[in-house]
Amino acid sequence: MDMDAVAWVGSGAGTTSSSRRTARSTSSGTEGPCGFPARMRNSRFRPNADRVLRYKPRLDHHPEEWWGRDAIFERSDVDPLVKRAIYTTMIRCVSEVILSKGLRVLMVKSVRGFSKGYWNVPGGFMDYGESPEVGVEREAEEEIGVDIVLDGLLNVYVSGFPGKPAYTLGFVYKGHLVSEAFRLKPDEIEDAAWFTVDKALTLTRNPFAKWALVDFFLQSDEARAALKVKRHSSDPHATGPDQPTVFLDRDGVINRGRAGYVRTPDQFRFLPGAIDGMRLLQDHGWQLVIVTNQDAAGWKLLTEAQLAKVHDRMLAMLHKEGVRVAEVYYCPHNVLSDCACRKPRPGMLLAAARDLGVRPRGAWMVGDKPLDVQTGRAFGCRTAWVGPKAWRKRFAAEVRPWSPDVVADSLLDGARAIVRYGEDPVVDAARKSRTDPTITS
Ligand SMILES: [Mg+2]
Repeated sequence: MDMDAVAWVGSGAGTTSSSRRTARSTSSGTEGPCGFPARMRNSRFRPNADRVLRYKPRLDHHPEEWWGRDAIFERSDVDPLVKRAIYTTMIRCVSEVILSKGLRVLMVKSVRGFSKGYWNVPGGFMDYGESPEVGVEREAEEEIGVDIVLDGLLNVYVSGFPGKPAYTLGFVYKGHLVSEAFRLKPDEIEDAAWFTVDKALTLTRNPFAKWALVDFFLQSDEARAALKVKRHSSDPHATGPDQPTVFLDRDGVINRGRAGYVRTPDQFRFLPGAIDGMRLLQDHGWQLVIVTNQDAAGWKLLTEAQLAKVHDRMLAMLHKEGVRVAEVYYCPHNVLSDCACRKPRPGMLLAAARDLGVRPRGAWMVGDKPLDVQTGRAFGCRTAWVGPKAWRKRFAAEVRPWSPDVVADSLLDGARAIVRYGEDPVVDAARKSRTDPTITS
């Protein structure tokens, strides 16, 4: 295919005719890849000094097929500007599907690509000119060897790649299987299995899969009703859509942790700056939701009634300071439990999505432990890891795989960073795309 009328950056401040002459003579002389004049390959646009010429490179096939969209970033002889232009003008599109059976969804474990070694929802990149419905049926049926039936579009998402000049559009459908006689595609999929939404969220690293799993949960009466999570308030909640929310871990973030646990209201001590941090977030329009594992309750060291007294006192003190907490969710189980609510499972965050209109793309999770960061990642929101330097040093290796978006000494510092941070993933990706254009998917 011949690419028509591609804008290209010419060098020098000469007249239009001399620049045209340059382009012509260069194109008949040394050429770089794809017919671009070699001399221009590494040029940079200088406003007021450079001219933009219209140059028609001689391409015998579509850029989509040049070297593969990922391989282009590994080439050292392709100008970063060209790489960036390709990724920002030729959006990658994926089409995926949440296949459900009652409360469970089908996940596949990949042996290659971005999801290698991880579970993902079936689907993949759409071919150019292919509709998302056709693309997802082709991909899913190739992967699992079973016909699927689509039951409608769940949502369409866009995701940037942190530090990369790329973004991807994701169509995610809901659907079901005709049979379960899987014939897995051996070079792509090593396993297929059914999981509850909270578990599936901990298994995938694909942001579209995460967001779609949350949307699937919210659209499923059965899944919403089945999720049992303890909360402090007994009031019914009014659900508003898309409430910007910051989830806060409790011990070590809001109050001092304590050997032997915080078991009475008197033992509850706010950390310095914690209330100011919460107020700062609230003043910038963030709804505050506390999500806390209470192992002490799990080990029967305090009753849920005692825990409620601790929370009553915490909320009363915050109220006096003008800080309102939308809800306190807690897990009353211990580390041996396989419950949906114990972090790093995201059950408490899912409950907030159901009760309080929280959506992953408009939320942050702030915590002092690696499992807090892991929980935020599982839910598909941004994460802040807070704690004194010495504390963070102790857990640095453990937290690294979950790459928090913000690292700070305290809740107050973390809150300041969250307030500064943009909320739009595309804008974020663009803002951070100054250096390495290598894409990892
Ligand atoms: Mg903590």
